[in-house]
Amino acid sequence: MNNNTTKDTSGLAGRVCVVTGAGSGIGRGIALALAKEGGRIAVLDLNAEGAKATVAEIKVRGGEAAAFTCDTSDSASVANAAAQSAAALGLCDVLVNNAGILRPGALDVLTLDEWNKVLSVNLTGYFLCAQTFGRQMRSKSADQAGGALVHIASIAAEHVTAMAGAYSVAKAGVEMLSRQLAVEWGPHGIRSNAVHPGMILTPMSQAFYDQPGVTERRSQAVPAGRIGVPEDIAQAVVFLASDRSAYISGQSLTVDGGFTRMMLGLIPRAGYEGKAP
Ligand code: NAP
Repeated sequence: MNNNTTKDTSGLAGRVCVVTGAGSGIGRGIALALAKEGGRIAVLDLNAEGAKATVAEIKVRGGEAAAFTCDTSDSASVANAAAQSAAALGLCDVLVNNAGILRPGALDVLTLDEWNKVLSVNLTGYFLCAQTFGRQMRSKSADQAGGALVHIASIAAEHVTAMAGAYSVAKAGVEMLSRQLAVEWGPHGIRSNAVHPGMILTPMSQAFYDQPGVTERRSQAVPAGRIGVPEDIAQAVVFLASDRSAYISGQSLTVDGGFTRMMLGLIPRAGYEGKAP
């Protein structure tokens, strides 16, 4: 057979891909993109209606998917969703940790409950899902063993999101969690990488863009000249989940249209002004 003619260029066809928070925004975009590659998608979300809508969208496009209601911060709920997903679709090959929350909160008045809530979803939930679905990856027969973990962190992992409680702290933790998993599970054929989205238009961020002029001002701060969309993140995830990244592990990929490279552009520098053509 001529390998150049194979359609499965990512090696994801038939793979069981679990995506948390896939009932909305970036997670839905990731689920759709993995399904397009031929993945069999387990859509996990607290929001049952959103999860069902994602599954319906995948099926309309001819893909295979099933929805499972799950609170990723609750170990029993994760164990339950993992068992149901394995029974319906098979053991997990790819886990995309994505479910997250963002809430305003200044550290001087932040309650312990609010601190713990964000950490429990945005960091502990990633650990619980990695541990639970990682066990499925390791329990497969020798010829099938292994898998890929992709964790959706944020540019907030390296850049402070002020007045957002534990959000940046949790995202920084995700980056180290990803690296630790890469080291501990590499010998089992499991890779672990993180993606750091920049400013992406989703239901989570929609309220910011509803303010007059925000889209324009934010877009001007991005070299790419626009706010990102879930598909931008999904393409990076497909790469890190696929065999094309077979020798990449413990790394982080920023997908922000160049936004976090703009720092020196924020200060006046006489003689160095100018606009790109
Ligand atoms: P989103 O549109 O709010 O989608 C997140 C989904 O996760 C929602 O369906 C939400 O359900 C679900 N969810 C929340 N808590 C959960 C839990 N405990 N268990 C299971 N599902 C839960 O947000 P998004 O913008 O797509 O964000 C996805 C990820 O990208 C997050 O980790 C976020 O921090 C990260 N990120 C986003 C941006 C951005 O600009 N949007 C930038 C950097 C990083 P409910 O609707 O019921 O809450």
